Amino acid sequence: MTRYIYEFGPGKTDGDASLKNLLGGKGANLAEMARLGLPVPPGFTISTECCNDYFDLGWRFPDTLESEIRTAMGHIEDQMKMKFGDPDAPLLVSCRSGARSSMPGMMETILNVGLCSTTIPGLVEKTGNEWFVYDAYRRLIMMYSDVVMEKADHVVPEDGMGIRLNLEMMMNNLKNDKGYEHDTDISLQDMQALCDRFKKKISQYLKKEFPDDPWEQLMGAIGAVFKSWNGKRAVSYRRIEHIPDAWGTAVNVQAMVFGNMGNTSATGVAFTRDPSTGKNHFFGEWLVNAQGEDVVAGIRTPNPLNKDTKNMQNQHLPSLEEAMPVLYDQLYDIRNTLESHYKDMQDIEFTIQEGTLYMLQCRVGKRTATAALNMAMDMYEQGMIDEKTMICRLNPKSLDEMLHPIVDPREEKTAVQVAEGLPAGPGGAWGKIVFTADDAVQMAKIGENVILVREETSPEDIEGMRAASAVLTARGGMTSHAALVARGWGKCCIVGAGAMKINVKNRQVQVGTRVFNEGDVFTLNGTKGIVYDGRLKMKDALENPKFIKFMAIADRHRTMGVRTNADTPEDAATALKFGAQGIGLFRTEHMFYGADSDRPLFLLRKMILSKSTDERQAALDELFPFVKQEIRNTLEVMDTLPVTLRLLDPPLHEFVPESEANQMEIAKALGIDLEEVNKRSRVLKESNPMIGHRGVRLGITFPEITQMQVNAIFTAAAELIVSGNHPMPEIMVPVTCNEKELTFVKKIVDDCYQNVLKAHNLEQIPYLFGTMIEIPRAALIADKMAKDAQFFSFGTNDLTQMTFGFSRDDIGSFMNDYIDHAILDSDPFETLDQEAVGSLIDIAVERGRKTRPEIKLGICGEHGGDPASVTFCHKAGLTYVSCSPYRVPIARLAAAQAAIQEND
Ligand code: PEP
Ligand code: MG
Repeated sequence: MTRYIYEFGPGKTDGDASLKNLLGGKGANLAEMARLGLPVPPGFTISTECCNDYFDLGWRFPDTLESEIRTAMGHIEDQMKMKFGDPDAPLLVSCRSGARSSMPGMMETILNVGLCSTTIPGLVEKTGNEWFVYDAYRRLIMMYSDVVMEKADHVVPEDGMGIRLNLEMMMNNLKNDKGYEHDTDISLQDMQALCDRFKKKISQYLKKEFPDDPWEQLMGAIGAVFKSWNGKRAVSYRRIEHIPDAWGTAVNVQAMVFGNMGNTSATGVAFTRDPSTGKNHFFGEWLVNAQGEDVVAGIRTPNPLNKDTKNMQNQHLPSLEEAMPVLYDQLYDIRNTLESHYKDMQDIEFTIQEGTLYMLQCRVGKRTATAALNMAMDMYEQGMIDEKTMICRLNPKSLDEMLHPIVDPREEKTAVQVAEGLPAGPGGAWGKIVFTADDAVQMAKIGENVILVREETSPEDIEGMRAASAVLTARGGMTSHAALVARGWGKCCIVGAGAMKINVKNRQVQVGTRVFNEGDVFTLNGTKGIVYDGRLKMKDALENPKFIKFMAIADRHRTMGVRTNADTPEDAATALKFGAQGIGLFRTEHMFYGADSDRPLFLLRKMILSKSTDERQAALDELFPFVKQEIRNTLEVMDTLPVTLRLLDPPLHEFVPESEANQMEIAKALGIDLEEVNKRSRVLKESNPMIGHRGVRLGITFPEITQMQVNAIFTAAAELIVSGNHPMPEIMVPVTCNEKELTFVKKIVDDCYQNVLKAHNLEQIPYLFGTMIEIPRAALIADKMAKDAQFFSFGTNDLTQMTFGFSRDDIGSFMNDYIDHAILDSDPFETLDQEAVGSLIDIAVERGRKTRPEIKLGICGEHGGDPASVTFCHKAGLTYVSCSPYRVPIARLAAAQAAIQEND
């Protein structure tokens, strides 16, 4: 019989932090805190295994579950000295979701389960606080009808609003009619009447009665939490975060403790260190007389936890440190216990019920990349963690965020400020303002930079938040939904910019007397919390000494090299700054696209449209000095480091002139008419150019093209050697699938090498000769390819294209469907498909090494900068990965972590 339930609490604890997969993060950490002797209200966790069995059984509970629940509930009752459903001393419980990794706000929670007509009088009697009991009942009705009766049952409301909004409207109308400013102002009679009206509305609207039986409520709530794993929001979040569907969620059922029992009760959220900056300060927010949802929902601006948490927005509000000093000290001790136990920053939730402190959650806190760096270095320097742990604390992907732009401080000095808020997500961003998540998605789709402006965000806004370059809200604190999600993604975000009055209907925001409309441009400084009018310049954030030190330590553990893909001396110089150890891919053809490319492009076109070999050779002779100079410049920048120079790769028709003016120019140069230019161009058109006359195939049809390029490479190197430099060129042949192609090109290379040596009176030019492996056939016959090739570079863009048969240029039209239907976990052009493309790489490595044990092995497809793919490359035993300059630090860190994890 499978065991589904694990208890926790002062009396009995079954699980611990190591059981995250089975108990979810929340359940595992509640158990761990209970083991540490912290004040955790007793409860039990229903395992993720039960969630999966529930789905397998066709959304039905396993037969043994209810009796397990009744036994565990008995233990909570014994500890709390109350009974679930008891008329005299009724126990209430919360039902919370908890997956293996945190999915903030994506799944459901139901509080106050067990309140009904038979238990209300007992609770009133026990608490002596009738208002509190009816407020708790009102909250239960609102949450339960929405989550259990509507969403979990897939009811699609006719009015498009849903029961929750209907009930909220009723409550707001009541507050307006009676002039109540806060929920807490509502009179007892009005609260009681509201609960009755809520239940009537539910019965009319959802055509079923609000359950009045505690056990029916409980089982309904548990099922609804399971179902919320497959809710729209949770599924979207999983796709974005690449969380597998098969994990499932656990459900935590726990004795309720109340932060809303009056002015000696409170609730709060805190971080053991500042999640934005990483400073070693206890950091948090709290509300007196409130339930936890009130802090996170951003409905009231929360109070600062202590002096360190005060800012411009909340400095007038009392801190917990001032208002409840004894409890604050107790919480501060718990903070220290948790940090020294977990040795990492924790995000905690607590509740104070009538002067007694309870811990409701702890988990590793989300943080900005800068905070992660600062905390890891501080903890290492304080001796809390070792060097390897420090290196693994920073997610390589998050470096992207740290290296991303900030608002140029010089521009900020003169910029016009619109509003100020809390600095919830780092860096800078600018964009056109939009007021709904849908608008953000639509505008981003057409390539607009947008800033999503909301009163506050809810999990329903998730897609829009993702699409926007930044998020700005009028309400909410540092722990509000917007702040948590944005911080997790490293997205620029400002919350609680209270001066903004947002009118979603008119798509307007008013600040004082100024009105801004949809489409107006704002710039956000998410590190300071300032909103500016218009677009400001951004600046690179690389020069951080802590970052440089951290990376130097990480490099000590790395065994795999990191090179860059760079086609210009400027890119090469940038990559060197980021720590590149060479160029893994120099795409020759790029010199015909970028700046100053008019003349070489013209000459290339002339060569392409030449008819006879003589004509072509004449054009190539003219082209030679340009190609040689470009290569020489790059070799010079990378002096002493290897530079892999790839021979011409794309099909020739890509370069054919389209405009009549360009065609005329070529016609004139070749002494032919326009008609003839068009005729020659048409001959070059292919049905499938990606698998057409490209790469090595061009060099076989037209050896003189290869010869000119090889000559340019050797001559550039020879000239540099003569001037005292140490160039390290590597000649790479693209799109090969047969070892004889390499033999063919090698002959040209050997001849050319001898000629250049002679011409420059040199004894040798150090160089390597190798090939891309980007066609499955080439991978499978790698033993033969390695006879001539001294190195392989895996071109995983084409290798993925040809392994899947997915066109890399047309993937956008169907990839999202593949992800949505969970056919693929991720886009294989972004993260290497280890199953098949990875197998081809493994085969090629093994067979290549058999022929040539010292063969150099690299990767130069886009995957070279993707951390998961880098880990794979390390395991596959590659010599280096090569990626775009900005991803070099990501690859360096990912490679260091792969080496550390392999040895652990
Ligand atoms: C590749 O195919 O992976 C590659 C690096 O070459 P390109 O992207 O230029 O085709
Ligand atoms: Mg390729």
